[in-house]
Amino acid sequence: MMPYHRPRSLADALALRAATGALPLAGGTDIHPLRTARAAWGEPWRTPILDLSAVPGLDGITETAEGWRIGARTTWTTIAETSLPPLFDGLRAAAREVGGRQVQNRGTIAGNLVTASPAGDGIPNLLALDASVELSATTGTRRMPVADFITGYRATALAPGEIVTALHIPRDDGARGRFVKLGARRYLVISIAMAAAVLRSEDGRIAQARIAIGACSPVAQRLPELEAALRDVELARAATVPRAAHLATLAPISDIRASTEYRQNAALALLRDLLAGFAA
Ligand SMILES: Cc1cc2nc3c(=O)[nH]c(=O)nc-3n(C[C@H](O)[C@H](O)[C@H](O)COP(=O)(O)OP(=O)(O)OC[C@H]3O[C@@H](n4cnc5c(N)ncnc54)[C@H](O)[C@@H]3O)c2cc1C
Repeated sequence: MMPYHRPRSLADALALRAATGALPLAGGTDIHPLRTARAAWGEPWRTPILDLSAVPGLDGITETAEGWRIGARTTWTTIAETSLPPLFDGLRAAAREVGGRQVQNRGTIAGNLVTASPAGDGIPNLLALDASVELSATTGTRRMPVADFITGYRATALAPGEIVTALHIPRDDGARGRFVKLGARRYLVISIAMAAAVLRSEDGRIAQARIAIGACSPVAQRLPELEAALRDVELARAATVPRAAHLATLAPISDIRASTEYRQNAALALLRDLLAGFAA
């Protein structure tokens, strides 16, 4: 039998995490399929579980002095249904595309981030939002940019005694977000490529753009050269700016969903669609 803990306070959760190294469980939509797949190959699951469902203070989105705090256990449904400024339009669009309704009702933003899949729909949005992650342990709390938190393919900087307690999104008045995802079909699909952007325009020109691409490299990436090329461009012309050279840092794989070349072309087409949508 695997040990299963369900603490009722954050202090107890952190103490258990430090003492036992138990694996945090939020919605379980990544953990349970993994556990089942392993069992099917005759590998019983022995990792102790730290169920976070009874820990208060990890749910929901609140406005703070510097921006917004999204509790780690906030589900995709809550993100999609909370009234938020246009800055969050990309993240909310992603929330409506993660799996189907059942997955959105259970799956959480922190679970998506910690899984750190290249195809995690939340991650390019968090990069474009300049989000930082709040990590708590019995020894204290630290924050780091999401860009530093994901250290590689399905790898993060989460330390053994830590739990993600929140994500923080800085205020960016007047900015709007967008997200586009390409899969083999419209719904219930793992991304072949996806693009997220947060863009602020003044007098019809782009004042600032933050753009990230997912599923085209081991870790979703911002595109700083494209972001620089977009500065001061008329919004109506933004979709003409992306070039193949702006995607040089990506390294898309070939797999059953798409070839390297298809992903490269798809990423460029998605970027143009994404930017055209801001002008529309
Ligand atoms: C049918 C199906 C369809 C899916 N479709 C998509 C899709 O379209 N796009 C997509 O991006 N994903 C998809 N997923 C994957 C999954 O639903 C998401 O990644 C989801 O956001 C995971 O959240 P969770 O709360 O269920 O994570 P869990 O399974 O509970 O945990 C996932 C990982 O995060 C860790 N973790 C969770 N919370 C914390 C915390 N607070 N602190 C530290 N570590 C934590 C866990 O230990 C584990 O390593 C799909 C899954 C299924 C089953």
